[in-house]
Amino acid sequence: MIDVTTYADRNVAVLGMSRTGIAAGHALLAGGARVFALDDMPAARERARECLGAAVVVDDAAQISWSDIATLVVSPGVPLHFPKPHPVIRKARAAGCEILGDIELFARARAERTRLVLITGTNGKSTTTALLGHIIAESGLPVAVGGNIGKPVLEMPGLPDQGVYVVEISSFQLDLTSHSQADIAILLNITPDHLDRHGDMAGYVAAKRRIFDGLSVAAGCIVGVDDTYGENICSDLRAAGHSVVPLSIENETAESGEVTTCEITEGIVVRDGKLCEVVAGTEHPQMDLRDLSHLPGSHNWQNVAAAYAAARGLGLARAEICTAIETFPGLAHRMEQLGKIGTVRFVNDSKATNADATARALACYTDIFLILGGVAKSGGIEGLKPFFSHIAKVYLIGEAAAAFAAALDDVPHIICGDLETAVSAAFADASSQKKEAVILLSPACASFDQFENFEARGAAFRAWVERLRQDNSMAGGAV
Ligand code: ADP
Repeated sequence: MIDVTTYADRNVAVLGMSRTGIAAGHALLAGGARVFALDDMPAARERARECLGAAVVVDDAAQISWSDIATLVVSPGVPLHFPKPHPVIRKARAAGCEILGDIELFARARAERTRLVLITGTNGKSTTTALLGHIIAESGLPVAVGGNIGKPVLEMPGLPDQGVYVVEISSFQLDLTSHSQADIAILLNITPDHLDRHGDMAGYVAAKRRIFDGLSVAAGCIVGVDDTYGENICSDLRAAGHSVVPLSIENETAESGEVTTCEITEGIVVRDGKLCEVVAGTEHPQMDLRDLSHLPGSHNWQNVAAAYAAARGLGLARAEICTAIETFPGLAHRMEQLGKIGTVRFVNDSKATNADATARALACYTDIFLILGGVAKSGGIEGLKPFFSHIAKVYLIGEAAAAFAAALDDVPHIICGDLETAVSAAFADASSQKKEAVILLSPACASFDQFENFEARGAAFRAWVERLRQDNSMAGGAV
């Protein structure tokens, strides 16, 4: 755990008693602050009473005198601006109280000679974070991985000099961070997501851009430039004197088959599946990415390129980085390969909670039996249209099923309702065609209408596939 000592003997309020809020409370108490714990849910306040013995758990937020509070620490799940600011935030703001998140607290508290890499983007954050953590660990440097990937930053261990913190940061967390003092900041990509919390696309892009706020010009900025938002941010950073490593990944457009990359004279490109360092306009190939079984698809090439660039920025040698990329075991629920039953391959991409992530998964295969649905994001499945020709049939689940059925035009589809029905129906269809096929769970939706989270959805899919495998082997079929 990291102790936050900047608030010793001062009053700090912590809003949101999820894992992040509890970790912030612990770190502040350990550093000598007086902590006031707030949450709308009685159960969460109860948890705070159990876990944060020395904190004052506040049942009625109206009792707080904001002029006595030095800082309000907000959990990323609490609405800051949209749909409307949480009442506690409004009160604190009106009183001029500083408002920040756990990552800003961590950035101020980490030991001076440690290094910090921050990673954001609409998609690929967790994969890039885990991959970079793996590369650094393989190099023998002390490393800790945390943030939005699932471990609150203030729960990470203290690291010795030269140790590296690799931190995934979401747009909600960026809204609560202004001076991260990162040594390297990575923006992978930007496509529409979470517009309900950011008001509109401009608000979302502004939040993502904050990853570069307050960085020194010596810091490394790594920016995916295959979308116009990234391209513009890259130009702005350069104009402000920052050193930027742009990333561009060749991208075959589904409609025309035309292969596109941006023109880059310095940076990283992936061309013909090969990761190349570009120096003074010349491309120097470093490794072939086409055979990386745990990082399938060209979308993962963007993640590899970003992790490679960051590892180079940290001073690691090219050869050791490439060897470590090959041994990366992959992450569950992101294009996770669940093996085959006969001619049918199963892929768990439950983490695809927006259409862009699902489009990337569809680009990897043909003859896809696709399980789609849940709680739709704005824009629905419009972004999948270019890949409709890759789909054999769609199995719709959850709240979005009827709307998606209407949007699928003449793509064969069936409304299954739940995941179990979808898996059995897809397997019956895919196995009857007696040729190679893929059953892909890549829902383009949030999961909370039917599951606690995307992990529970992916775990349920994995369990149904296992059940099918057992039934099939008992029936003497191919496994
Ligand atoms: P995040 O943490 O940003 O949500 P993940 O690494 O967990 O990203 O991947 C989320 C989903 O996005 C998965 O379905 C994955 O296959 C897909 N994905 C991963 N990397 C990229 C990328 N660079 N561009 C687009 N989609 C991606």
